[in-house]
Amino acid sequence: MTDLVLVNANVLTMDPNRPRATAVAIAQGRITALDEVPPGAARVADLRGATVLPGFHDAHNHMIGFGMSLGEVDIGSPPVGSLDELYAAIARRAETTAPGEWVIGSGYDQNKLGGHPHRDALDRAAPGRRVWLRHTSGHMCVVNSVVLADLGIDTAATELPGGRVATDSSGRPTGLLEERAQLLVGSLVYPYPLAELTSAIARAAGQYLKEGVTSCTEAGIGGGWVAHSPAELAAYAAARDQGQLGVRVELMTAADVLHPLGAHADDNLVAGLDLGISTGFGDDWLRLGAVKIFADGSLVGRTAALHDPYYHSDTAGYLQADAADLRAAIIAAHRSGWQVATHAIGDRAIDLVLDAYADALRQYPRPDPRHRIEHFAVVQPRQVARAAELGVIAVPQGRFATELGDGMLAAVGPDRHAWLYRQRSLLEAGMVLPGSSDRPVVAGAPLLGIDGMVNRRTSSGAPFNPDEAVTAEQALHAWTRGSAYASRQEHVKGSIAPGMLADLVVLSEDPTAVSPDRIAALEVLATIVGGQFGYGSLD
Ligand SMILES: [Zn+2]
Repeated sequence: MTDLVLVNANVLTMDPNRPRATAVAIAQGRITALDEVPPGAARVADLRGATVLPGFHDAHNHMIGFGMSLGEVDIGSPPVGSLDELYAAIARRAETTAPGEWVIGSGYDQNKLGGHPHRDALDRAAPGRRVWLRHTSGHMCVVNSVVLADLGIDTAATELPGGRVATDSSGRPTGLLEERAQLLVGSLVYPYPLAELTSAIARAAGQYLKEGVTSCTEAGIGGGWVAHSPAELAAYAAARDQGQLGVRVELMTAADVLHPLGAHADDNLVAGLDLGISTGFGDDWLRLGAVKIFADGSLVGRTAALHDPYYHSDTAGYLQADAADLRAAIIAAHRSGWQVATHAIGDRAIDLVLDAYADALRQYPRPDPRHRIEHFAVVQPRQVARAAELGVIAVPQGRFATELGDGMLAAVGPDRHAWLYRQRSLLEAGMVLPGSSDRPVVAGAPLLGIDGMVNRRTSSGAPFNPDEAVTAEQALHAWTRGSAYASRQEHVKGSIAPGMLADLVVLSEDPTAVSPDRIAALEVLATIVGGQFGYGSLD
């Protein structure tokens, strides 16, 4: 029995063997036929020429972080365009926040505000409240004096590896905490109750479905500063049990969580999770993905590790850990059978990761490991060739060009503009390009990400390394089949063909047929996950 048939559709299948179709049949959550659809379906929807694609798959997002940010002060977009406006927004929220409680904001960018917020001004805006403002990159934050006092660093900084407590010329902390120094403030709120995380997942899922997302990969749970609870997976499992997961989720495990297992010496399980659970465990709805390792920091925050200093600066960023320790962590995870996804932005960090992947593959050969480099932001030509040769999947974010592009261009200077967030040269080198947002770092709607990949313009209108633009067709491929490949799931999703999961998005128009400047404004008419309508109804 066929459950649903879509007819009069403009189907872009992303299947190279059969790129186009006009009808799709669905039964029991799977696609059963194209074009010659069986008669007697329970429901027939006439799409009147609307475009059908495989559901979008965000290959790198922070679902819980995004869900939580929906309830925080938005300090990343108008009307917050200056520090004074930011302080005013904090003051408004403080009025409805009890003394001692938290005022949390996300998304500020000092490149747009003219500087980082300062603890003293935050104290004036929110007297007696705890203020915590996250940078748009997620790699740094600012807190006020109440929080600094809680941490015992209100008058002097502490030293800590992989991070920095920023101070003024007199040695007094300014409130800015970089990279692993964020763990300090994290210790005041972590772990979050699982019920709070489950609600955040449900809120995020509702938004994802409206935007055509049917799968996403959460880029790090369970440990380190991106985590919300050591038992974070249980929040996803609860969301699933309560019917609130909404989309298919792949979870990356933070490297901090891996530990020796005590297995037999011949098993090569030098680092893993209890019971030997690793990449691929789970099912079509909820599964474990790669292990997530951080090699360096943020480009707009100027902490990412470059070979040469930032433009008009004498600093070149830093690694998140000792180079030898990072290498050892990557090799141990590879040896233990994990897919490895390492965050590396600067060319120095990228070299370290490519070297570690090469060593891991040489010492412990393994077929088709599909190791990833998240962001892959400042990339020398020789590094593209090496990544391709190693079979590495680079995971850049299209929307970064739009929202963070001006800060990135300024950070590296004109001589390195052509190295920024490559796409086209990766495809030309034979690499697979997934689609991803890194939400909540920037807006996460896939059509905005595709717009960024194709149009490559910053919010001020400057071209952003336009030679690396891709076509709408290539961007759609990235957000569907490319992401499925990065998740080792291309045999079940990412294209529309008989036997594949019935995960589809219906768009008002064909992104490959409209003028590129209209892509961002196309409408999502419906999102179907496993044959069920998650958004819209096509009535
Ligand atoms: Zn991320």
